Amino acid sequence: MVENYDVVVVGAGPAGSVAALKAAEGGANTLLLERYHLPRYKLCGGGVANWVIRRFDIPKEVLQRRYEVLSFFTPPRYDRHDLDLGTTSYFGVYRDEFDYYLTTMAVKKGVKLRERMKVTGVIKDKGQIQGVITSKGEKILSSLVIACDGASSRIAKLSGMWGDWGHCSEKKWYDQMSYCVGIEVQLGKEIIDKRFENSYMIFTGKDIAPLGYAWLFPKRENVSVGLGSMAKTLERKPMEYMNHFLKHNKVVSSLLEGGKLIMSKGAWLPAWKPIGSVYKPSFGAGLLIAGDASGMVSSITGEGIYYAVRGGIEAGVTAVEAVNEGDFSANFLSKYQDRWQASIGTVLDFQDHIFKETVGKILNIEDEKEREEQYERGFIQAFRMLIDFIQEYAKKKQN
Ligand SMILES: Cc1cc2nc3c(=O)[nH]c(=O)nc-3n(C[C@H](O)[C@H](O)[C@H](O)COP(=O)(O)OP(=O)(O)OC[C@H]3O[C@@H](n4cnc5c(N)ncnc54)[C@H](O)[C@@H]3O)c2cc1C
Repeated sequence: MVENYDVVVVGAGPAGSVAALKAAEGGANTLLLERYHLPRYKLCGGGVANWVIRRFDIPKEVLQRRYEVLSFFTPPRYDRHDLDLGTTSYFGVYRDEFDYYLTTMAVKKGVKLRERMKVTGVIKDKGQIQGVITSKGEKILSSLVIACDGASSRIAKLSGMWGDWGHCSEKKWYDQMSYCVGIEVQLGKEIIDKRFENSYMIFTGKDIAPLGYAWLFPKRENVSVGLGSMAKTLERKPMEYMNHFLKHNKVVSSLLEGGKLIMSKGAWLPAWKPIGSVYKPSFGAGLLIAGDASGMVSSITGEGIYYAVRGGIEAGVTAVEAVNEGDFSANFLSKYQDRWQASIGTVLDFQDHIFKETVGKILNIEDEKEREEQYERGFIQAFRMLIDFIQEYAKKKQN
């Protein structure tokens, strides 16, 4: 028998779990499909905005560390520059624990979860998405599909959205992406407390991450170390940059001295999009797209959890309205885009603007040496402008 749901959500990352949670909370019969067994590890810095922690009451055990200071290290001397995060503080989490907590919340609200269930196809009739097909060949019908399947969203691609967005060839897709590698270094709580205190760290430099950056996010017992660059700017294998960074950067080697490597991994991130903003439209007939699948990521920092969660909330709320009205047309579902535009659009658009005005302009400088020198300056300037903007924005929203 073919199963039939009001809403099928693909992907149990932050966007998917929250979208499913909101849909079920509003009374929609909701299925959440995830390709991996949960909880699943995901390569990530794991820096989550305070707003998300408060909104979903994330328990203390999941919060590995609080960050109040963002420290920059730039060439040639790698002196330290601290930016006080003020009210925009962040928490460090591991994504298996954090994401699974959100998934569990969704299940408690009545979402049916199926793990190890990879979606490989969509059911489409007269331009309307009407369900999905799994790798086992199973057809699942639904009035609405919410694609939350991450950076290389198969659902968005199969639904024909990549054509609308200009992702039409694999080559173009690659040009718009960052490639990241990450490792976990075990150091122990006592040493981490002493060396990192309440800060997390960013490093720039051509030898570390050409036109990108590297990060150190300390957790309770380990430090997450990663780096990411526009994929097309990489001249060597990403792990070679990482090895060079660990071996030759004196600040990093002393911060991580005595540490033990316990894991390494690579991942794509939809940052550095030349077109800048979130991919639009983020809806179609019978379809909503949220989180990385729709490019909801800061152009400057690569932060995406906060935006995935906000996109997920708006997708879930819109799904409930569509179910109640029995209207799954693109016209009705367009209100989803208006909603996320109102909640996160301003901040994302502003980041695109800062990016274009600072780093973006610098990327166009022809002389390579000048471009690199300017990049360091422009990058810090972009972060500083972003933090100031977010603090001002948060203040205004509170009043
Ligand atoms: C190296 C790195 C570091 C990052 N650091 C940070 C950070 O510190 N802070 C921050 O805010 N953001 C960070 N990000 C960005 C952040 O990870 C993403 O923006 C965020 O995970 C987006 O959430 P999502 O739910 O949209 O997608 P994801 O978290 O990617 O979840 C997608 C889910 O869909 C599942 N899936 C995929 N395809 C299918 C399929 N066909 N069928 C079924 N299931 C499927 C996947 O298994 C996955 O569970 C980082 C990203 C990278 C790559």
